[in-house]
Amino acid sequence: MAKEELECSFCGRKKPETNLLIAGLDAHICNRCIEQAHGIVVEESKDAISDELSAELMLKKPQQIKAFLDEYIIGQEHTKRVMSVAVYNHYKRLLQSPTGDDIEIQKSNIIMVGQTGTGKTLMAKTIAKMLNVPLAIVDATVLTEAGYVGEDVEGILTRLLQAADYNLEKAERGIVFIDEIDKIARKSDNPSITRDVSGEGVQQALLKLLEGTVVNVPPKGGRKHPDQKFIEVNTENILFISGGAFDGVERFISRRLNMSAIGYKASHDDEMIDPDNLLQYITPRDLKDFGLIPEIIGRLPVLTYMNPLDENTLRAILTEPKNAIIKQYKKLFSMDDIELSITEGALKFIVNKAIEYKLGARGLRSLCEEILTDDMFNLPGTSQTKLNITKTYAEGKLTKTRLKKLKAVS
Ligand code: ADP
Repeated sequence: MAKEELECSFCGRKKPETNLLIAGLDAHICNRCIEQAHGIVVEESKDAISDELSAELMLKKPQQIKAFLDEYIIGQEHTKRVMSVAVYNHYKRLLQSPTGDDIEIQKSNIIMVGQTGTGKTLMAKTIAKMLNVPLAIVDATVLTEAGYVGEDVEGILTRLLQAADYNLEKAERGIVFIDEIDKIARKSDNPSITRDVSGEGVQQALLKLLEGTVVNVPPKGGRKHPDQKFIEVNTENILFISGGAFDGVERFISRRLNMSAIGYKASHDDEMIDPDNLLQYITPRDLKDFGLIPEIIGRLPVLTYMNPLDENTLRAILTEPKNAIIKQYKKLFSMDDIELSITEGALKFIVNKAIEYKLGARGLRSLCEEILTDDMFNLPGTSQTKLNITKTYAEGKLTKTRLKKLKAVS
C-alpha cells in the first residue's frame, strides 16, 4: 500500500507544497497556516488589550487622571482639574446605560484659552495618550465654509479616521483638538454686511460636529477624489477640545471687571484682581465679546485658561516631566556611552534666554539644540565618556547671532 501522503489539516496542501509541516497528535499544520494563525492571534490580542485598557481607563477617577497629567505637564493646576473632571464626565456619559429617566448628560467639550506655547496641545495629547484613544490635531485657520478654498470642517474627521487607522469605532470615541479656535471669531461686529468665509461661516459649520451628528466623511479628505466613497462618522461620542490664544480678550475681561485699562483697581467686591493674569477671570461672555457665536460657546461648555509660563515653570519643564527635554538629551548621549550632566547655572541661563528672547517653552528645545549640536556631532566615536554643561560653556555656544536666529524662526 502506498504510503499516505501527509497534508496540512487546515488548508489541505500536500507536504511537498509546503516549506514546513508540523505534526500534532492527529493533525498537521503547514508554515503558511501557522503564519496566518499567528497574525490572527496578534490582532485579536491587540484588540483585547485595547479594550481592557479603555475599560480600565474609563474607570479612572478625576484625581487619577490629574495625577497622570502631572507626570507630563508642569503647573496649570486649574486646567488639569477642570480637564480631569470633563474627561471623567465625558466617559461617564459614554458608559451611561439607558435608565429610563430623561436625563441626558451633555457633552463636556472643552475650550482652553491661553497664550501660545503654554501647553494646550500638550494637554490634549496627554489626555489622548492616557485614554489610548486616537487624537486629531487640526488648525482652525485652515477651515473654511464648504465650497471655498481651504478645508471643509468634515476634513477634521478625516484626520481622526486616519489617526484611528480607519477603525471607525475607535475614531468615534476619539478626541479632536481644534487649535487656534480664536482665529475663526467673527471679525466685524456687524455680521450681516460682510460674509466672512473663514469666520462665522466656519463656526456655523462646526456647530453640528461639536454637538453630535452623523457626518459623511471623505476617507482621504479633500475634494480631489469626487468618486471616493464616504464613511459615516457619528460625532456623538467624540470629545472636542479647542484652544486659542484669544489675543486681546483681556480688554473685554477688564472692562467687565470694571477695571481701568491703565493701572487697575479692585472691582466692587473686594477680591484682589491680578492684572498680570486676567485670563483666569475669563467667562463665556468674554468669548462672545471676542467674536465667538453664542451657539459655539454653548457647545464648548467647559471653559478653562492656561497660565503664562514663569521662570520657575520653564525651569521645571526642562527637567521634570516624564519626557523632559534634558532627559531626552541624556538618553541620546547615553546611547553613545556619554554621560551628560548640566549644572543648575546652565539650566537657569537657558531659561533666562528663553524669557529674554520671548521664545517660550518651545524655545527651550531650540536653545538646548544650539548648545548641544556641536557635541552631538563631535563626540560619538571618540573616547570621551562625560560631558558637563556649565553656564560658561552654554554662553559660549549661544552667541548673539545664534539667539537672534532662534528668535527669527520662533
Ligand atoms: P500650545 O498648544 O499652548 O501652543 P504646546 O502644548 O504646543 O503649546 O507647548 C509647546 C511645548 O512646550 C510642548 O511641546 C511642551 O514641551 C512645552 N510645554 C509647554 N507648557 C508646558 C507645561 N506646562 N509643562 C510641560 N511642558 C510644557
